[in-house]
Amino acid sequence: MRALVWHGANDIRCDTVADPEIEHPRDAIVKVTTCAICGSDLHLHDHFMPGMEKGDIVGHEFMGEVVDVGTEAKGALKVGERVVIPFTIICGECDQCKRGNFSVCERSNRNKAMADKIFGHTTAGLFGYTHLTGGYAGGQAEYVRVPFADRTHVKIPDGLTDEQVLFLGDIFPTGWQAAAQCDIQPTDTVAIWGCGPVGQMTIRSAVLLGAKQVIAIDRVPERLAMAQAGGATTINFDEESVVERLNELTGGKGPEKCIDAVGMEAHATATLDSMMDRAKQALMLESDRAHVLREMMYVCRPAGTLSIPGVYGGLIDKIPFGMAMNKGLTFRMGQTHVNRWTDDLLRRIQEGQIDPSFVITHTVPLDQGPEMYKTFRDKRDGCIKVVLKP
Ligand code: NAD
Ligand code: ZN
Ligand code: ZN
Repeated sequence: MRALVWHGANDIRCDTVADPEIEHPRDAIVKVTTCAICGSDLHLHDHFMPGMEKGDIVGHEFMGEVVDVGTEAKGALKVGERVVIPFTIICGECDQCKRGNFSVCERSNRNKAMADKIFGHTTAGLFGYTHLTGGYAGGQAEYVRVPFADRTHVKIPDGLTDEQVLFLGDIFPTGWQAAAQCDIQPTDTVAIWGCGPVGQMTIRSAVLLGAKQVIAIDRVPERLAMAQAGGATTINFDEESVVERLNELTGGKGPEKCIDAVGMEAHATATLDSMMDRAKQALMLESDRAHVLREMMYVCRPAGTLSIPGVYGGLIDKIPFGMAMNKGLTFRMGQTHVNRWTDDLLRRIQEGQIDPSFVITHTVPLDQGPEMYKTFRDKRDGCIKVVLKP
């Protein structure tokens, strides 16, 4: 089959590889009809994420048709069924899965020992990601093996297009969880850094969850325009001071809820000046284009919440923890507990409350995937979300 394969930094290729096979009785094989490139894939592409190996098949946003089912998954899945596969692999039976904490499933990471050693505990297995999370082959491919398939799926009813439901596997629940874990009150201002696909889903979720005001921050004009169409007031961080504008828009109080939908890209957008002037950096006197986390901590209203769907790997520098402590801020973060939200979000799509396909700007065959990684990363051609058709 054809698949997108990681060969090193800036080197993802469309290769011919072996077809996947059932390896365990709980597996299923899915023929991928539609998949997408995520901001998290860019961390692999740019090699910010440790634990990748040459030959890894990438991709964790995919859906398709079940073509083979292991003996123990047969009760839950049938050949011919149409499914979206959540990027977090879940056993459905461990103590964390029972609590709905699916992204920290205790059994789905086959490299559990490595994760235990590095993180202190294991986290869930993920598709097409680092070997720290199991190194499972991803779904930017014609076929994919789904481990724990009897639990790791969302069945899709007839009458909905792939594009309407594909993002149930990651970015829609990710944006939703980012907003939901802020416990949004009708009097709240929610500020969202990053208007990429995750930021866009977060904006729509914060609006649906009843925020008084949603403010979105980025510098890419078409992303800001899409944010505005979704109901947000926008700030271009290249043109104005984020801290000053946020204070202005909240009567000087600051937003009650701040969401980081940027992640590691924030390292690249912090100015050289602010990187060099450590005193200023620690005190956050220099506001715009500083690290998103520091900016959020500085501007957030005391007793507010910082929600962090943005992905970080390794150590990140100079976080003024004392500021957060004195302001009494709450931090919420993590990979998304996808299956916690999918029933509710599928219903909202069916009821027409939201059509997540609004974010798609590019649809191309799988073999154009490698160049689309670069188009998406560099935000060329008005690119916001790329969908691939194997
Ligand atoms: P993306 O790269 O398209 O979006 C990032 C956006 O942030 C870009 O539009 C960029 O212009 C903007 N940005 C950069 N620096 C900024 C700054 N200083 N202030 C404000 N905006 C800034 O990626 P995406 O697909 O939207 O993903 C966003 C993040 O979410 C990534 O880190 C990704 O790994 C993460 N993610 C997390 C989960 C999860 O389960 N927690 C799931 C999916 C994606
Ligand atoms: Zn993702
Ligand atoms: Zn589990």
